[in-house]
Amino acid sequence: MLLGAIDQGTSSSRFLVFDLDGEIVASNQIEVRQIFPHPGWVEMDPNELINTVLECIAKTCEKLKNFGISPSEIQSVGIANQRETIVIWDRDSGHPLYNAIVWLDTRTSQLAQEYIDRTETKSSDHFKPLAGLPIHPYFSALKLRWLLDNVRAVRESCERGSLMFGTVDSWLMWKLTGVHCTDVTNASRTLLFDLAARKWSTELCAFFQIPMEILPDIRSSAEIYGKFIDGPLEGTTISGCLGDQNAALLGQGCWNLGDTKTTFGTGTFMLCNTGEKAILSKNGLLTTVAFQLGSETPMCFALEGSGSIGGNVVRFLRDNFKFIKEASEIEEISRTVENTNGVLFVPCFTGLYTPQWDPTARGLIVGLTHCTTMAHICLAALRAVAFQCTEMIEAIENDMENSTKIKTLKADGGMTTNRLFVELQAEIAGRNIETPRNTEISAWGAAIAAAIGARLISVADFGSRQTKFARFEPNGGNVQREVEMTKWKDAVKRAQNWQK
Ligand code: ADP
Repeated sequence: MLLGAIDQGTSSSRFLVFDLDGEIVASNQIEVRQIFPHPGWVEMDPNELINTVLECIAKTCEKLKNFGISPSEIQSVGIANQRETIVIWDRDSGHPLYNAIVWLDTRTSQLAQEYIDRTETKSSDHFKPLAGLPIHPYFSALKLRWLLDNVRAVRESCERGSLMFGTVDSWLMWKLTGVHCTDVTNASRTLLFDLAARKWSTELCAFFQIPMEILPDIRSSAEIYGKFIDGPLEGTTISGCLGDQNAALLGQGCWNLGDTKTTFGTGTFMLCNTGEKAILSKNGLLTTVAFQLGSETPMCFALEGSGSIGGNVVRFLRDNFKFIKEASEIEEISRTVENTNGVLFVPCFTGLYTPQWDPTARGLIVGLTHCTTMAHICLAALRAVAFQCTEMIEAIENDMENSTKIKTLKADGGMTTNRLFVELQAEIAGRNIETPRNTEISAWGAAIAAAIGARLISVADFGSRQTKFARFEPNGGNVQREVEMTKWKDAVKRAQNWQK
């Protein structure tokens, strides 16, 4: 029995085929373009998102056939997707009406402030008890508001009653199966979802003036949504759907209370499983749905640290500074220096998320001297990601009841293929880090959801399977660690309140 997984991320689209032990049988990956029309704006082409997914599926099925395996052996397919990014399209024409506005986009910073001022408490946290999220450009609601306000084609389609809104999962699902739906994990990132009632919030939709008829149906993360309309997988069911970070939580085997993972992809996302209880953070974390494995099963919640700093700094050093040709080269170049020679890099190109939530922050490099080289800046970039992750660990430990400590952090995502980075992370956080043998953990999580959703296997069956890990341990002392964290926090303060 084989399982398929679509992983549509900010860096690439992928399709993978797994066996039930999580071994990859065949896969294909295509890098996707990010479009930067203005500083702070980040868009993607919705047609490119679906077309790269289709191409990955076709190429993977070709590979399967070359191995003598029929694509019909794929029993079911799951989707893991970049979250918060929105697509808007017309039901009748089937065409997108604007580029996808990506989660990193800060065009709505000003708008966010206007909406904060409209709340009774004048606080960005006004809706946190309802939605678990602050009012911030990161989440989908304000991006959608911007489209309704600024794009004539969107307004006209809305007036005709044929406008459709979705996060990337909905867009792919609609294109692949013709069904307009989303899952609870993706819905919980829109700032339009009522966590307790498990439905679109009439209060939030009224506040942001969002017409509810354009929103997709909310389903669980593991159930049968529909079948592929055509292509090599025609007739195959899609039965798993969840945000990529949530899929990674499943893939890492974080089934139990307190289990925590961090994914170092384009950004950095730490999720801590809080069970059936939605904990409201006092330390800048988000409350989010972790997953819901079946329509009759209760939702599992998570506390989340979301970081805008991640592998995108490596991509920046590659594409903008041309320090490297491939992301992987950053390891070798960073290893040529012992330390950063006092350089600190705060690569927050589109603002800071957890715990500062400052959309006006902009990147900086401090501590430059005549002796600074490219290698020092590369090393400082890797260390920045590790510092930000350490701030998230502190926030989670401060929020969790019973003084839960994260002694071991499970890590995955593109950056964890960089051994130096994982060593630095263990050192800076002073924690053990475990990286799974299977680095395609979001896709594996989506495949698990698909298997559960199609009732090919039970939750307990997967829960008892152990993922194999490599372990990294810190060596240095806590005093040095604290000195370094203090310096980092000082540099972060300097990056804040910049783009007023
Ligand atoms: P996403 O799911 O957000 O698309 P991935 O998990 O695929 O992201 O990770 C891709 C990111 O990881 C890119 O931003 C890339 O720059 C970074 N990356 C990939 N390989 C390395 C490496 N060896 N060292 C550091 N960063 C890397």
